Amino acid sequence: MAATKRAACLIGWPAAHSRSPLIHHYWLRQLGIEGGYSIEAVPPEGFAEFVLHLKSHGYVGANVTIPHKERALQLTEPDARARAVGAANTLYYDGDLLRSTNTDIEGFIGNLDASAPGWDRTAHALVLGAGGSSRAVVYGLLERGVQRIALANRSIERAQALRDLFGDRVVPIAWSDIPVALPGAGLLVNTTSLGMKGQPPLPIDLSALPADAVVADLVYVPLETDLLAAARARGLRTADGLGMLLHQAVRGFDLWFGARPHVTAELRALVEADLLGHT
Ligand code: NDP
Repeated sequence: MAATKRAACLIGWPAAHSRSPLIHHYWLRQLGIEGGYSIEAVPPEGFAEFVLHLKSHGYVGANVTIPHKERALQLTEPDARARAVGAANTLYYDGDLLRSTNTDIEGFIGNLDASAPGWDRTAHALVLGAGGSSRAVVYGLLERGVQRIALANRSIERAQALRDLFGDRVVPIAWSDIPVALPGAGLLVNTTSLGMKGQPPLPIDLSALPADAVVADLVYVPLETDLLAAARARGLRTADGLGMLLHQAVRGFDLWFGARPHVTAELRALVEADLLGHT
């Protein structure tokens, strides 16, 4: 009897264009695994039914995106990462139990390790933004041992909420104090949507950053943001948003298909071409 083909999906609403099918199909081909990955457009009112019967819909697991990430946390058994970030983006079965996790944390850290090895020699980071992705970044940096994270956000209450959540190694600072924090930062991370296509630019002068600082941007449209271009022009090492997107997909694939895939230059080129074709 032929083995049933394993399949995962991305659940979102509306059905937006996503790079996830491209990434997972590439790895399935590379590893010679017979499997599938599709997009499921599920409206909020149908989400609970869909997730609670994921298996009977034909799936061994799923990615979850806007607007379902917080709801997914309530409908599954989340791990510490999903709970700390307040959102689940990856669902998988453990027997009949549907578990969830958040892979943005390791996506961010894995990409930094690959793009700027040794970045973690710094004790001090400056993180811009205190939204959903910032929680994953802050969690990852603290777990990795960064001693102090200056956290700048337009509305400082959101930065203070992250300090309350993660403790005093997170130090909220006013948005206007970014220039004061730059000379002490060995790592600068943009988690805001500033600099993204269609959004206002991120107004920041990098000349005060230390010469060995690393600059990371979560924004990946455009691929090279003005922030990354300015950092490279200064000779600083960088980690880009596309790298994070690729690295965050690794564990989901492993959990669903039972093999750990690699983020290769070929995969990156494929996704870059797709991004350029759609932007
Ligand atoms: P959120 O909406 O949760 O947070 C947005 C952040 O941007 C907030 O800190 C917000 O500040 C800030 N911001 C928005 N507009 C302005 C402005 N005009 N001036 C100053 N600050 C502003 O978004 P996410 O955290 O989910 O995503 C942020 C970015 O990261 C997006 O571009 C997203 O595409 C990217 N991303 C990339 C990933 C990857 O894998 N590469 C993964 C996840 C996200 P305030 O709180 O004051 O509103």
